[in-house]
Amino acid sequence: MGKLLSRPYFYSGECQISYLIRVSEQNGFKHIGHLLHHAGLDWKNNRAPIHQILTGEFDLAPYLLALNLPETQSEITPIFQKFKRVVDTPYLLVKYPKVCPECLKELGYCKYEWNILPVLACIKHRKILVDIHPDSGNRLSWYRQYLNKFDNDSGVVRAINHPIQPAVIQLCKYVESLLTGRKKSASIPVILHGLEINESLSLIHFIAHYQARLLACSFKPVGMDNKELGQHYQKVWEMLHAWPDSFYALLGQYIDRPMSSKGVGGLNKHYRDLYERLHRQQENRGIARIKAEFDRYIEQYWPGVLAPERLTRIKLTSPNRNIISKKETARILGSRLERVDKLVQQEKLIPVVFKGKAHYLRNQVEAFANEITSNWTMAEACEAFQLTRYQLKQLLDADVISVLQKPDSLNRDWVIDKSQSQALIDSLREKAHRTLPPSGVVSLVGIQRQGYSIVRLILAMQSGELQYWFVPDIDHPSSIKQFTSFKVKRIG
Ligand SMILES: [Zn+2]
Repeated sequence: MGKLLSRPYFYSGECQISYLIRVSEQNGFKHIGHLLHHAGLDWKNNRAPIHQILTGEFDLAPYLLALNLPETQSEITPIFQKFKRVVDTPYLLVKYPKVCPECLKELGYCKYEWNILPVLACIKHRKILVDIHPDSGNRLSWYRQYLNKFDNDSGVVRAINHPIQPAVIQLCKYVESLLTGRKKSASIPVILHGLEINESLSLIHFIAHYQARLLACSFKPVGMDNKELGQHYQKVWEMLHAWPDSFYALLGQYIDRPMSSKGVGGLNKHYRDLYERLHRQQENRGIARIKAEFDRYIEQYWPGVLAPERLTRIKLTSPNRNIISKKETARILGSRLERVDKLVQQEKLIPVVFKGKAHYLRNQVEAFANEITSNWTMAEACEAFQLTRYQLKQLLDADVISVLQKPDSLNRDWVIDKSQSQALIDSLREKAHRTLPPSGVVSLVGIQRQGYSIVRLILAMQSGELQYWFVPDIDHPSSIKQFTSFKVKRIG
């Protein structure tokens, strides 16, 4: 291996690839691939593991040693190591380099920060970083021959004088403060306060992803050029400043743009998808902050859009959508369509308006249907108590037995509270004598003949005014007829 003619100094804060480009340039190599090949790296087509060098996953030390160059440390390695798989965003570094031409001119090297995706501009020079040749549209390359030139271009990289958005400067300042640990400026959105870089970048990318989705495009930051990336980040930054209202607005917009042509199904899918991603990444404090707001939103505006079982267990393929049509609602209730309107009038069902049409929440409808079927109709209650309809009506009117629904203009049927009815009989049984009745007792019919109406009878049994005896009937455990013998207690 031939010796290097020039061994430049490695600056603190310099990007390692920038250093390699300088070494390569000063020693007359075509690009860093050739330099590293010269140092013994045997990669196809003289390529090099750029990304892994930047993150520190690839150990450059043996090659630097072979070239008799000083050992360099990537400032990015400790930042990269903070990012956990699955929990944090996978995006941190650019795929292609970007530079501030003015810094480059002054310093003679590239800063490592420029490799961080949301570092869009140079705060010192208030210029957007350059990654694309303004005329040819060519990307700046890691494999360029000269540090300050595009390939096939004799001129040096020039600064772009486009006005820069305040949001972009604010974001860059914020990211730089995260990188350097320096004091943060006052213009940081509250939602980002106290977050680490992996947490805040995850939050930002999460929002960027769903913002892009709304416009039917995707957020793949690695392939984007600096300008396009800037547009995405700027929108996120502005949204974070208006948090959480802006997030609510974003979620609200899904209603008009469901994820698919499936209408409500698409909307459900959207929210489920969001929920599942939030759930998966909730260990990340940034994502947890989004999740808290998402949960609040759903609870407030779309209660039940995520069926309860989905909140505890992620189910990707549930055949049942939770937002259902009126027809489906009537089918579950076993009623006619008009009944659904009446239940809405009574606020027993809360409709959700989707694309101008009322829909219903399956879990709410099912809970209501369940309430009806698990209680008694008038006929069922008469059968259970072994009472006439007239007697039962007296008990209902006197509030001895509670009613969940009375017939009126909105309801056709009675719904009688089954568990309260059963509890009433149970408590009467507990007070009953189980011994053989003494002489002088009267039968159930007998006591009624003595002026004890069914209402007065039960109240007297409850108050202790009547002593009574009980013979269980296994087939009719709620029957009043189980109380067979009565005796009026003599007072005093
Ligand atoms: Zn600069």
